[in-house]
Amino acid sequence: MAGVVNMIWTWQMVQPASFNKETKETTPGKLEKKQIPAPQLQPGEVLVEVAGCGVCHTDLGYFYDGVPTVSKPPLTLGHEISGVVVAGEQAWIGKEVIIPAVMPCRKCILCKTGRGNRCLDQKMPGNSLASYGGFSSHIPVPSVDLCEVKNRGNIPLSHLAVVADAATTPYQASKRADLQPGDNVAVIGITGGVGQYMGQMAKALGAKTVVGIARNQEKLNRALKFGADVVINSTDKDAGAISKEFRGLCKERGLPGTGWKIFEVSGSKPGQEIALGLLSFTGKLIVVGFTMAKTEYSIGRLMAFDAEIIGTWGCLPEYYPIVLDMVLSKKINIEEFVEVRPMSSIAETFAGAHKSPPMKRIVLTPDF
Ligand SMILES: [Zn+2]
Ligand SMILES: [Zn+2]
Repeated sequence: MAGVVNMIWTWQMVQPASFNKETKETTPGKLEKKQIPAPQLQPGEVLVEVAGCGVCHTDLGYFYDGVPTVSKPPLTLGHEISGVVVAGEQAWIGKEVIIPAVMPCRKCILCKTGRGNRCLDQKMPGNSLASYGGFSSHIPVPSVDLCEVKNRGNIPLSHLAVVADAATTPYQASKRADLQPGDNVAVIGITGGVGQYMGQMAKALGAKTVVGIARNQEKLNRALKFGADVVINSTDKDAGAISKEFRGLCKERGLPGTGWKIFEVSGSKPGQEIALGLLSFTGKLIVVGFTMAKTEYSIGRLMAFDAEIIGTWGCLPEYYPIVLDMVLSKKINIEEFVEVRPMSSIAETFAGAHKSPPMKRIVLTPDF
């Protein structure tokens, strides 16, 4: 581990997904195992030996759906990274760290006004951090935003990779929602990679009631053990049917019909329709998931409801230690939601996760 690292092993996306206009066929990207020279580290940079890198829906979007990356291929994907600092700034060497998925520039007006999570000059491994990404043996990163891991007990460092993205995004979303103890919360897509932490996060921050809405019953049952107080299976139901079921549930449990904080995490049109259907008087809808689909809504209702719709992006690096503490103190469970596989399985893992969302977040550990 220690000593000089001259070369970095990596799984590069040498070719992005491409779309043939004539045949209407999408050809997925191409992965190749490569060795690249380790860069000369600049002041303020460190080299991290990767312990684990999570496979995120965003990676699959780049690889299969033609979502463009900022740095053009060849580049290495992967932005959910934990590891150990092995070179660079002396003060960091030997420390275990989580690398934030988005690292703000710290110079622009957004960064200076507390909105650095949406900094337009931010760097994201596996997208805009030159050609470097987490599906590698090592990665060079700026040290300023690293989150140090201390006293992790029996939780493997590789598992903590999920803090870099899946577990932190819900914290930022909760901040945007001004989530307060005693709030009532609905999470649409509570079974997904981010959704499962959204439910847990809302509960950990003191939500009185968390209603989880999604389609996979097995995962909904799991959500009931981790965050959700009650769940609604949305399979074959439209937004109207869900709203009716939701109102019935409120009545049954003596819950108010006003002031709900609704987190749309599914990033799907049906999910957005459900969320908009639930938005009512003095409510807030927080859009956490992304889709290109257009959803129709009569925005005059916002006026009548005195309600809000808010978007949220990523998570400020300064919140990472708070989320890490919630994970290490078991307020948020990650162990039930993580599966570790060797990094050499990357091609099969991508293909499998693309075909059907896995039960657990898959974290790949380097085995070059
Ligand atoms: Zn991600
Ligand atoms: Zn900035």
